[in-house]
Amino acid sequence: MVSCAVENNVAPAERKASERTGVTWLRVYPVSNGEPFATHDMVYIPMTCQQCGEHTPCVSVCPQNAVELDPATGIVAQIPQRCLGCRYCMTACPYHARYFNWWDPQWPKGTEVLLNPDVAPRMRGVAEKCNFCHGRLHTARTKAAAEGKRDIAPGDYIPACAESCPARAIVFGDLADESSEVSRLSRSNEAFQFLPKLGTAPKLFYTSSKEWVRNMAGKVPTT
Ligand code: SF4
Repeated sequence: MVSCAVENNVAPAERKASERTGVTWLRVYPVSNGEPFATHDMVYIPMTCQQCGEHTPCVSVCPQNAVELDPATGIVAQIPQRCLGCRYCMTACPYHARYFNWWDPQWPKGTEVLLNPDVAPRMRGVAEKCNFCHGRLHTARTKAAAEGKRDIAPGDYIPACAESCPARAIVFGDLADESSEVSRLSRSNEAFQFLPKLGTAPKLFYTSSKEWVRNMAGKVPTT
């Protein structure tokens, strides 16, 4: 969560910010099976934009074309300059993966020099979300172009969360490449997606050896 915020110039939370009004592109939730002692169990689940590939809810409702699904990469991009702040996208997103800038972003005095020059900070009044570290994608493309290559070399584009996870619990790669590790993991018996019945074709896959976790992910909340 911290490396995501630092990489993407997500400002520290406002004093007045609550659980619902702060900005956190990646949030790790502790989730339990609700059972009492002896059968009690829990896991941590990182939740972020699922990069919906079909009927992308936030794209569908945006009146400003401020959200775009790039068919080449599969990344759902947010264009803050077009956003009018209606927050329809936040209502439409079934994964609660979108955040709104209720305040101007502010960094502790002196730390502005540490901002990532490849990512523009967002202003008050616009929505935002994870974009798979789009700044890193640009950097990798620029490097490939400078080397006279069409394609990005494997390893040149890895989002900050995957890079910083000490347990290597986040794997990033090309799902369309059947030989990639993400593709292999997505086809494992322990792989699952969140809310697959909604038909949004999330590009994030999770894996768990625990059956209750896999079952929980498929349930549409009723409250
Ligand atoms: Fe849009 Fe939410 Fe799907 Fe991300 S998870 S693409 S924000 S609807």
